[in-house]
Amino acid sequence: MRCPFCGNIDTQVKDSRPAEDHVSIRRRRFCPACGGRFTTYERVQLRDLVVVKSNGKREDFDRDKLERSIRIAMQKRPIEPERIDQMISGIVRRLESMGETDVPSRTIGEIVMESLARIDTVAYVRFASVYKNFQAAGDFDRFVSELRPAGDRGEE
Ligand SMILES: [Zn+2]
Repeated sequence: MRCPFCGNIDTQVKDSRPAEDHVSIRRRRFCPACGGRFTTYERVQLRDLVVVKSNGKREDFDRDKLERSIRIAMQKRPIEPERIDQMISGIVRRLESMGETDVPSRTIGEIVMESLARIDTVAYVRFASVYKNFQAAGDFDRFVSELRPAGDRGEE
């Protein structure tokens, strides 16, 4: 695994342990070249999903992107990180078990909102309000960039 700090490809695993109810393995890694430390997760991927945007464009499903948007919606909410991890895994599992490789971005948005609504109303409202604009724009990147941490809007 390449070091994200210096690009050295010879990094060492310091510690491996199960995370999120054993659906992933968390590895702490160390880079001997620069001393950097980082974490990687290993997960079962049942199938390679492709997101179909409303404008018909397709892109590979990116769990990290999904996770980013959800974590931003969840910012400063009293929800345990493990709970958020479980929710994200649940969403991905649902998408993977739908039986189709192609998943409309709209479907992903709806499943995320459903999951958020069950866990935290404030996060749900944050996500849903941005999601509305996103549907109009049909652009996931814009969607993620509009979901800014609450502090950035002076809502401390
Ligand atoms: Zn390094």
